[in-house]
Amino acid sequence: MQAEQFKIKKMFYQTTADFLQHESANSFNNEMILIKGARAFEFEKISAMLQEKSHATILEINLDALVHNFNFYKSKLAPQVKTMCMVKAFAYGGGSFEIANTLQFHRADYLAVAYTDEGVDLRKAGITLPIMVMNVEVQSFDNIIEYNLQPELYSMRIIHAFLNFIATKKSQQQYSVHIKLDTGMHRLGFVKEEIAELCILIKSNGKLKVESVFSHLAASDESAHREFTLQQINNFNAICNEMEEKLGTTFLKHIANSSAIVQYPSSHFNMVRLGIGLHGIGNTAEENDGLQMVSRLKTTITQIKKVAAGETVGYSRKAKLNRESDIATIAIGYADGLSRRAGNGAYTVTVNGHEVQTVGNVCMDMLMVDVTGIACNEGDEVIIFDSRPSILKLANAMQSIAYEVLTGISQRVKRVYVNE
Ligand SMILES: *Cc1c(COP(=O)(O)O)cnc(C)c1O
Repeated sequence: MQAEQFKIKKMFYQTTADFLQHESANSFNNEMILIKGARAFEFEKISAMLQEKSHATILEINLDALVHNFNFYKSKLAPQVKTMCMVKAFAYGGGSFEIANTLQFHRADYLAVAYTDEGVDLRKAGITLPIMVMNVEVQSFDNIIEYNLQPELYSMRIIHAFLNFIATKKSQQQYSVHIKLDTGMHRLGFVKEEIAELCILIKSNGKLKVESVFSHLAASDESAHREFTLQQINNFNAICNEMEEKLGTTFLKHIANSSAIVQYPSSHFNMVRLGIGLHGIGNTAEENDGLQMVSRLKTTITQIKKVAAGETVGYSRKAKLNRESDIATIAIGYADGLSRRAGNGAYTVTVNGHEVQTVGNVCMDMLMVDVTGIACNEGDEVIIFDSRPSILKLANAMQSIAYEVLTGISQRVKRVYVNE
Protein backbone atom coordinates (compact mmCIF):
# COMPACT_ATOMS: atom_id res chain seq x y z
CA MET A 1 0.00 0.00 0.00
CA GLN A 2 1.15 3.50 -0.89
CA ALA A 3 -1.16 5.14 1.65
CA GLU A 4 1.76 6.92 3.30
CA GLN A 5 2.53 8.75 0.06
CA PHE A 6 -0.59 10.90 0.49
CA LYS A 7 0.09 13.71 2.93
CA ILE A 8 -3.56 14.73 3.14
CA LYS A 9 -6.62 13.51 5.02
CA LYS A 10 -7.49 10.23 3.33
CA MET A 11 -9.68 7.14 3.47
CA PHE A 12 -9.20 3.86 1.62
CA TYR A 13 -11.70 1.16 0.67
CA GLN A 14 -11.01 -2.27 -0.78
CA THR A 15 -13.89 -2.27 -3.23
CA THR A 16 -16.56 0.00 -4.67
CA ALA A 17 -19.16 -1.93 -2.70
CA ASP A 18 -17.17 -1.34 0.45
CA PHE A 19 -17.17 2.40 -0.21
CA LEU A 20 -20.91 2.44 -0.92
CA GLN A 21 -21.60 0.56 2.29
CA HIS A 22 -19.67 2.98 4.44
CA GLU A 23 -20.41 6.30 2.78
CA SER A 24 -23.59 8.06 1.80
CA ALA A 25 -24.30 11.24 -0.13
CA ASN A 26 -24.43 12.96 3.24
CA SER A 27 -20.71 12.34 3.73
CA PHE A 28 -20.13 15.16 1.24
CA ASN A 29 -21.22 18.73 1.33
CA ASN A 30 -20.34 21.60 -0.96
CA GLU A 31 -17.36 19.78 -2.34
CA MET A 32 -15.87 19.38 -5.77
CA ILE A 33 -15.68 15.65 -6.43
CA LEU A 34 -13.47 13.98 -9.03
CA ILE A 35 -14.43 10.36 -9.70
CA LYS A 36 -11.76 8.55 -11.64
CA GLY A 37 -10.99 4.89 -12.30
CA ALA A 38 -11.14 2.03 -14.77
CA ARG A 39 -14.53 0.87 -16.06
CA ALA A 40 -14.19 -2.41 -14.17
CA PHE A 41 -14.58 -0.61 -10.84
CA GLU A 42 -18.08 0.60 -11.78
CA PHE A 43 -17.63 4.04 -10.29
CA GLU A 44 -20.91 5.07 -11.97
CA LYS A 45 -22.51 3.47 -8.91
CA ILE A 46 -20.77 6.13 -6.85
CA SER A 47 -21.94 8.99 -9.06
CA ALA A 48 -25.49 7.59 -8.99
CA MET A 49 -25.39 7.48 -5.20
CA LEU A 50 -24.10 11.07 -5.01
CA GLN A 51 -26.79 12.35 -7.37
CA GLU A 52 -29.53 10.79 -5.29
CA LYS A 53 -28.87 13.52 -2.82
CA SER A 54 -30.59 16.07 -5.00
CA HIS A 55 -34.04 14.80 -5.75
CA ALA A 56 -34.17 17.65 -8.11
CA THR A 57 -34.96 18.46 -11.64
CA ILE A 58 -31.87 17.74 -13.65
CA LEU A 59 -30.72 18.41 -17.18
CA GLU A 60 -28.30 15.63 -17.97
CA ILE A 61 -25.81 16.47 -20.70
CA ASN A 62 -23.95 13.71 -22.42
CA LEU A 63 -20.65 15.18 -23.57
CA ASP A 64 -19.70 11.97 -25.40
CA ALA A 65 -22.79 12.39 -27.56
CA LEU A 66 -21.79 16.00 -28.19
CA VAL A 67 -18.36 14.90 -29.39
CA HIS A 68 -19.96 12.17 -31.50
CA ASN A 69 -22.18 14.77 -33.19
CA PHE A 70 -19.28 17.15 -33.71
CA ASN A 71 -17.37 14.38 -35.47
CA PHE A 72 -20.44 13.43 -37.51
CA TYR A 73 -20.53 16.93 -39.03
CA LYS A 74 -16.77 17.00 -39.46
CA SER A 75 -17.05 13.80 -41.49
CA LYS A 76 -19.31 15.69 -43.93
CA LEU A 77 -16.68 18.39 -44.50
CA ALA A 78 -13.56 18.48 -46.62
CA PRO A 79 -10.55 18.31 -44.28
CA GLN A 80 -9.55 21.95 -44.70
CA VAL A 81 -13.01 23.30 -43.79
CA LYS A 82 -12.99 24.81 -40.31
CA THR A 83 -15.70 24.69 -37.67
CA MET A 84 -17.14 27.52 -35.64
CA CYS A 85 -19.26 26.21 -32.78
CA MET A 86 -22.17 28.33 -31.62
CA VAL A 87 -22.23 28.44 -27.83
CA LYS A 88 -24.58 31.38 -27.46
CA ALA A 89 -27.43 31.31 -24.95
CA PHE A 90 -25.56 29.15 -22.44
CA ALA A 91 -24.60 26.82 -25.33
CA TYR A 92 -28.23 26.16 -26.22
CA GLY A 93 -28.94 25.63 -22.52
CA GLY A 94 -26.27 22.96 -22.15
CA GLY A 95 -23.79 25.07 -20.19
CA SER A 96 -21.35 27.41 -21.93
CA PHE A 97 -18.11 26.44 -20.27
CA GLU A 98 -18.49 22.67 -20.26
CA ILE A 99 -19.60 22.57 -23.86
CA ALA A 100 -17.02 25.08 -25.05
CA ASN A 101 -14.30 23.26 -23.15
CA THR A 102 -15.23 19.91 -24.68
CA LEU A 103 -15.27 21.42 -28.18
CA GLN A 104 -11.97 23.17 -27.58
CA PHE A 105 -10.42 19.88 -26.52
CA HIS A 106 -11.74 18.22 -29.67
CA ARG A 107 -10.29 20.94 -31.84
CA ALA A 108 -13.11 23.16 -32.93
CA ASP A 109 -11.53 26.19 -34.63
CA TYR A 110 -13.76 29.00 -33.38
CA LEU A 111 -16.52 29.65 -30.91
CA ALA A 112 -19.31 32.19 -31.26
CA VAL A 113 -21.54 33.81 -28.67
CA ALA A 114 -24.40 36.28 -29.00
CA TYR A 115 -23.34 38.83 -26.38
CA THR A 116 -20.03 40.10 -25.06
CA ASP A 117 -20.79 38.96 -21.51
CA GLU A 118 -21.03 35.38 -22.72
CA GLY A 119 -17.57 35.67 -24.25
CA VAL A 120 -16.17 37.29 -21.10
CA ASP A 121 -17.48 34.38 -19.01
CA LEU A 122 -15.79 31.87 -21.30
CA ARG A 123 -12.48 33.73 -21.10
CA LYS A 124 -12.72 33.96 -17.30
CA ALA A 125 -13.30 30.21 -17.22
CA GLY A 126 -10.12 29.67 -19.22
CA ILE A 127 -11.33 29.11 -22.78
CA THR A 128 -8.58 30.09 -25.22
CA LEU A 129 -10.16 29.49 -28.65
CA PRO A 130 -10.93 32.56 -30.75
CA ILE A 131 -14.44 33.78 -29.87
CA MET A 132 -16.67 35.77 -32.21
CA VAL A 133 -19.28 38.00 -30.55
CA MET A 134 -22.31 38.58 -32.73
CA ASN A 135 -24.42 41.29 -31.11
CA VAL A 136 -21.76 43.80 -30.19
CA GLU A 137 -22.70 47.20 -28.97
CA VAL A 138 -20.60 50.27 -28.33
CA GLN A 139 -20.73 49.82 -24.53
CA SER A 140 -19.09 46.40 -24.84
CA PHE A 141 -16.02 47.41 -26.91
CA ASP A 142 -13.92 47.74 -23.75
CA ASN A 143 -14.54 44.12 -22.82
CA ILE A 144 -14.14 42.97 -26.41
CA ILE A 145 -10.57 44.25 -26.38
CA GLU A 146 -9.77 43.42 -22.77
CA TYR A 147 -10.87 39.79 -23.13
CA ASN A 148 -9.49 39.26 -26.60
CA LEU A 149 -12.87 38.70 -28.24
CA GLN A 150 -13.60 39.29 -31.93
CA PRO A 151 -16.58 41.45 -32.83
CA GLU A 152 -19.03 40.88 -35.64
CA LEU A 153 -19.28 44.18 -37.51
CA TYR A 154 -22.68 44.36 -39.16
CA SER A 155 -23.41 47.99 -40.06
CA MET A 156 -21.78 51.30 -40.93
CA ARG A 157 -22.80 52.61 -37.53
CA ILE A 158 -21.04 49.83 -35.65
CA ILE A 159 -17.87 49.75 -37.76
CA HIS A 160 -17.40 53.52 -37.42
CA ALA A 161 -17.95 53.27 -33.68
CA PHE A 162 -15.41 50.45 -33.45
CA LEU A 163 -12.85 52.34 -35.51
CA ASN A 164 -13.34 55.41 -33.31
CA PHE A 165 -12.88 53.27 -30.25
CA ILE A 166 -9.65 51.62 -31.37
CA ALA A 167 -8.33 54.98 -32.57
CA THR A 168 -8.12 55.97 -28.89
CA LYS A 169 -5.77 53.04 -28.26
CA LYS A 170 -2.13 53.79 -28.78
CA SER A 171 -1.35 50.27 -29.91
CA GLN A 172 -0.35 49.62 -33.52
CA GLN A 173 -1.90 46.17 -33.46
CA GLN A 174 -4.59 45.08 -35.89
CA TYR A 175 -7.93 44.04 -34.44
CA SER A 176 -9.53 40.80 -35.63
CA VAL A 177 -13.09 41.28 -36.79
CA HIS A 178 -15.79 39.40 -38.67
CA ILE A 179 -17.91 41.11 -41.31
CA LYS A 180 -21.56 40.09 -41.44
CA LEU A 181 -23.44 40.26 -44.74
CA ASP A 182 -27.19 40.30 -45.18
CA THR A 183 -27.99 38.03 -48.11
CA GLY A 184 -31.69 37.57 -47.43
CA MET A 185 -32.26 37.02 -43.72
CA HIS A 186 -32.76 40.78 -43.27
CA ARG A 187 -31.60 40.79 -39.68
CA LEU A 188 -28.05 42.12 -39.08
CA GLY A 189 -25.50 42.68 -41.81
CA PHE A 190 -24.17 44.87 -44.60
CA VAL A 191 -26.13 44.81 -47.83
CA LYS A 192 -24.62 44.54 -51.30
CA GLU A 193 -24.90 48.26 -51.97
CA GLU A 194 -22.64 49.06 -48.99
CA ILE A 195 -19.75 46.78 -49.94
CA ALA A 196 -17.75 49.27 -52.00
CA GLU A 197 -17.84 51.88 -49.23
CA LEU A 198 -17.12 49.22 -46.61
CA CYS A 199 -14.01 47.99 -48.43
CA ILE A 200 -12.65 51.52 -48.89
CA LEU A 201 -13.13 52.17 -45.19
CA ILE A 202 -11.41 48.93 -44.10
CA LYS A 203 -8.55 49.39 -46.52
CA SER A 204 -7.87 53.05 -45.79
CA ASN A 205 -8.06 52.60 -42.04
CA GLY A 206 -5.72 49.62 -41.91
CA LYS A 207 -6.38 48.66 -38.30
CA LEU A 208 -8.89 45.88 -38.94
CA LYS A 209 -7.90 42.33 -39.71
CA VAL A 210 -10.85 40.72 -41.47
CA GLU A 211 -10.77 37.20 -40.04
CA SER A 212 -13.93 36.20 -41.80
CA VAL A 213 -16.87 37.33 -43.87
CA PHE A 214 -20.13 35.54 -43.22
CA SER A 215 -23.84 35.49 -43.69
CA HIS A 216 -26.78 33.50 -42.34
CA LEU A 217 -29.30 31.32 -44.16
CA ALA A 218 -32.92 32.09 -43.44
CA ALA A 219 -34.42 28.68 -44.23
CA SER A 220 -31.77 26.01 -44.78
CA ASP A 221 -33.96 23.54 -42.89
CA GLU A 222 -36.95 23.93 -45.18
CA SER A 223 -36.87 22.25 -48.57
CA ALA A 224 -39.67 24.53 -49.75
CA HIS A 225 -37.10 27.33 -49.73
CA ARG A 226 -34.33 25.47 -51.53
CA GLU A 227 -34.17 27.95 -54.42
CA PHE A 228 -33.96 30.87 -52.03
CA THR A 229 -31.20 29.19 -50.04
CA LEU A 230 -29.16 28.49 -53.16
CA GLN A 231 -29.64 32.12 -54.15
CA GLN A 232 -28.33 33.25 -50.76
CA ILE A 233 -25.27 31.02 -51.19
CA ASN A 234 -24.64 32.46 -54.67
CA ASN A 235 -25.02 36.04 -53.55
CA PHE A 236 -22.71 35.38 -50.63
CA ASN A 237 -20.09 33.90 -52.90
CA ALA A 238 -20.29 36.88 -55.28
CA ILE A 239 -19.92 39.46 -52.49
CA CYS A 240 -16.99 37.56 -50.96
CA ASN A 241 -15.21 37.55 -54.31
CA GLU A 242 -15.83 41.26 -54.68
CA MET A 243 -14.48 41.90 -51.19
CA GLU A 244 -11.38 39.80 -51.70
CA GLU A 245 -10.63 41.72 -54.83
CA LYS A 246 -11.29 45.13 -53.30
CA LEU A 247 -9.44 44.41 -50.05
CA GLY A 248 -6.63 42.48 -51.69
CA THR A 249 -6.75 39.87 -48.91
CA THR A 250 -8.40 36.53 -48.31
CA PHE A 251 -10.42 35.56 -45.28
CA LEU A 252 -12.57 32.74 -43.96
CA LYS A 253 -16.04 32.56 -45.48
CA HIS A 254 -19.00 30.94 -43.80
CA ILE A 255 -22.73 30.77 -44.31
CA ALA A 256 -23.74 27.19 -43.37
CA ASN A 257 -25.53 26.40 -40.12
CA SER A 258 -26.04 22.80 -38.99
CA SER A 259 -28.80 21.86 -41.37
CA ALA A 260 -27.05 23.40 -44.37
CA ILE A 261 -23.98 21.22 -43.82
CA VAL A 262 -25.68 18.03 -44.94
CA GLN A 263 -28.09 19.51 -47.45
CA TYR A 264 -26.03 22.17 -49.16
CA PRO A 265 -22.45 21.05 -49.73
CA SER A 266 -21.91 24.20 -51.81
CA SER A 267 -22.46 26.22 -48.62
CA HIS A 268 -19.36 24.93 -46.81
CA PHE A 269 -16.81 27.44 -48.20
CA ASN A 270 -13.91 27.22 -45.73
CA MET A 271 -15.81 27.29 -42.44
CA VAL A 272 -19.23 26.20 -41.16
CA ARG A 273 -21.17 27.18 -38.04
CA LEU A 274 -22.48 24.38 -35.90
CA GLY A 275 -25.37 24.87 -33.52
CA ILE A 276 -28.38 22.68 -32.88
CA GLY A 277 -26.86 19.67 -34.65
CA LEU A 278 -24.21 19.41 -31.95
CA HIS A 279 -27.07 18.72 -29.57
CA GLY A 280 -28.30 15.82 -31.66
CA ILE A 281 -31.20 17.50 -33.36
CA GLY A 282 -30.94 17.20 -37.09
CA ASN A 283 -33.22 17.91 -39.91
CA THR A 284 -33.20 14.97 -42.28
CA ALA A 285 -33.29 11.24 -41.68
CA GLU A 286 -29.69 10.95 -42.87
CA GLU A 287 -28.62 13.53 -40.35
CA ASN A 288 -30.64 12.13 -37.47
CA ASP A 289 -29.40 8.59 -38.07
CA GLY A 290 -25.90 9.86 -37.52
CA LEU A 291 -26.60 11.95 -34.42
CA GLN A 292 -27.04 11.21 -30.73
CA MET A 293 -29.29 13.15 -28.37
CA VAL A 294 -27.22 15.13 -25.88
CA SER A 295 -29.69 16.19 -23.24
CA ARG A 296 -32.16 14.48 -21.01
CA LEU A 297 -34.49 16.51 -18.80
CA LYS A 298 -35.76 14.63 -15.80
CA THR A 299 -37.40 15.15 -12.46
CA THR A 300 -39.06 13.08 -9.74
CA ILE A 301 -42.49 12.36 -8.32
CA THR A 302 -43.09 14.39 -5.18
CA GLN A 303 -46.48 12.94 -4.20
CA ILE A 304 -49.06 10.47 -5.50
CA LYS A 305 -52.70 10.56 -4.45
CA LYS A 306 -56.02 9.03 -5.35
CA VAL A 307 -58.50 11.65 -6.50
CA ALA A 308 -62.18 10.80 -6.83
CA ALA A 309 -64.16 11.03 -10.04
CA GLY A 310 -65.77 14.46 -10.37
CA GLU A 311 -62.94 16.26 -8.54
CA THR A 312 -60.74 18.78 -10.29
CA VAL A 313 -56.94 19.09 -10.34
CA GLY A 314 -54.84 22.22 -10.14
CA TYR A 315 -55.32 25.92 -10.79
CA SER A 316 -58.56 27.18 -12.24
CA ARG A 317 -59.95 23.67 -11.73
CA LYS A 318 -59.08 23.08 -15.35
CA ALA A 319 -58.95 19.29 -15.23
CA LYS A 320 -62.17 17.57 -14.20
CA LEU A 321 -61.69 13.84 -13.55
CA ASN A 322 -64.22 11.52 -15.11
CA ARG A 323 -62.89 8.52 -13.19
CA GLU A 324 -61.11 7.92 -9.94
CA SER A 325 -57.46 8.66 -10.77
CA ASP A 326 -53.98 8.33 -9.37
CA ILE A 327 -52.49 11.79 -9.73
CA ALA A 328 -48.74 12.30 -9.39
CA THR A 329 -47.30 15.72 -8.68
CA ILE A 330 -43.88 16.11 -10.27
CA ALA A 331 -41.17 18.63 -9.47
CA ILE A 332 -41.05 20.75 -12.59
CA GLY A 333 -43.06 23.76 -13.69
CA TYR A 334 -43.06 26.66 -16.07
CA ALA A 335 -40.36 28.43 -14.06
CA ASP A 336 -38.08 25.56 -15.04
CA GLY A 337 -38.90 26.08 -18.69
CA LEU A 338 -41.75 23.63 -19.10
CA SER A 339 -44.30 25.84 -20.79
CA ARG A 340 -47.89 26.11 -19.60
CA ARG A 341 -48.81 25.07 -23.09
CA ALA A 342 -47.71 21.52 -22.19
CA GLY A 343 -50.50 21.27 -19.61
CA ASN A 344 -54.01 19.83 -19.87
CA GLY A 345 -52.96 16.70 -21.72
CA ALA A 346 -51.01 18.51 -24.43
CA TYR A 347 -47.86 16.57 -23.53
CA THR A 348 -46.91 13.23 -22.03
CA VAL A 349 -43.94 12.52 -19.78
CA THR A 350 -42.45 9.10 -19.09
CA VAL A 351 -42.79 7.34 -15.72
CA ASN A 352 -41.15 3.92 -15.44
CA GLY A 353 -41.38 3.44 -19.17
CA HIS A 354 -45.01 4.54 -19.47
CA GLU A 355 -46.17 7.69 -21.17
CA VAL A 356 -48.50 9.62 -18.91
CA GLN A 357 -50.49 12.75 -19.71
CA THR A 358 -50.29 16.08 -17.98
CA VAL A 359 -53.42 16.93 -15.99
CA GLY A 360 -54.62 20.49 -15.55
CA ASN A 361 -52.56 23.64 -15.78
CA VAL A 362 -48.78 23.56 -15.36
CA CYS A 363 -47.91 25.39 -12.13
CA MET A 364 -44.82 27.55 -11.59
CA ASP A 365 -42.80 24.78 -9.91
CA MET A 366 -44.95 21.67 -10.28
CA LEU A 367 -47.10 19.76 -12.65
CA MET A 368 -49.64 16.96 -12.22
CA VAL A 369 -49.75 13.83 -14.35
CA ASP A 370 -52.18 10.94 -14.50
CA VAL A 371 -50.49 7.71 -13.37
CA THR A 372 -53.66 5.64 -12.97
CA GLY A 373 -52.85 1.95 -13.39
CA ILE A 374 -49.11 2.50 -13.56
CA ALA A 375 -46.72 1.01 -11.05
CA CYS A 376 -44.84 3.94 -9.56
CA ASN A 377 -43.85 5.43 -6.24
CA GLU A 378 -43.10 8.79 -4.77
CA GLY A 379 -39.45 9.57 -5.54
CA ASP A 380 -39.50 7.75 -8.88
CA GLU A 381 -37.84 9.36 -11.85
CA VAL A 382 -39.86 11.15 -14.52
CA ILE A 383 -38.38 11.76 -17.96
CA ILE A 384 -39.56 15.00 -19.53
CA PHE A 385 -37.59 14.41 -22.74
CA ASP A 386 -34.57 12.35 -23.69
CA SER A 387 -34.80 11.83 -27.43
CA ARG A 388 -35.32 13.80 -30.57
CA PRO A 389 -38.94 12.65 -30.98
CA SER A 390 -39.77 13.55 -27.39
CA ILE A 391 -38.20 17.02 -27.52
CA LEU A 392 -39.94 17.69 -30.83
CA LYS A 393 -43.23 16.60 -29.32
CA LEU A 394 -42.70 19.00 -26.45
CA ALA A 395 -41.73 21.77 -28.86
CA ASN A 396 -44.88 21.04 -30.78
CA ALA A 397 -47.03 21.18 -27.65
CA MET A 398 -45.37 24.53 -26.87
CA GLN A 399 -46.09 25.71 -30.44
CA SER A 400 -42.38 26.24 -30.77
CA ILE A 401 -39.14 24.60 -31.89
CA ALA A 402 -36.47 22.49 -30.16
CA TYR A 403 -34.16 25.52 -29.95
CA GLU A 404 -36.62 27.26 -27.64
CA VAL A 405 -37.17 24.17 -25.50
CA LEU A 406 -33.41 23.79 -24.92
CA THR A 407 -32.58 27.45 -24.35
CA GLY A 408 -35.65 27.92 -22.17
CA ILE A 409 -34.60 25.44 -19.49
CA SER A 410 -33.98 27.79 -16.63
CA GLN A 411 -30.75 28.22 -14.75
CA ARG A 412 -32.20 26.77 -11.57
CA VAL A 413 -32.32 23.36 -13.26
CA LYS A 414 -29.10 21.65 -12.28
CA ARG A 415 -26.87 20.60 -15.17
CA VAL A 416 -25.18 17.25 -14.71
CA TYR A 417 -22.49 16.21 -17.18
CA VAL A 418 -21.99 12.65 -18.24
CA ASN A 419 -18.91 11.40 -19.98
CA GLU A 420 -16.75 8.37 -20.00
C1 LIG B 1 -27.34 30.31 -33.90
C2 LIG B 1 -26.67 30.56 -35.17
C3 LIG B 1 -26.18 29.49 -35.95
C4 LIG B 1 -26.40 28.05 -35.62
O1 LIG B 1 -27.58 27.60 -36.24
P1 LIG B 1 -28.10 26.12 -36.05
O2 LIG B 1 -29.33 26.05 -36.86
O3 LIG B 1 -28.36 25.94 -34.60
O4 LIG B 1 -27.02 25.21 -36.53
C5 LIG B 1 -25.43 29.82 -37.07
N1 LIG B 1 -25.22 31.11 -37.42
C6 LIG B 1 -25.72 32.15 -36.72
C7 LIG B 1 -25.44 33.54 -37.18
C8 LIG B 1 -26.46 31.91 -35.58
O5 LIG B 1 -26.93 32.94 -34.88
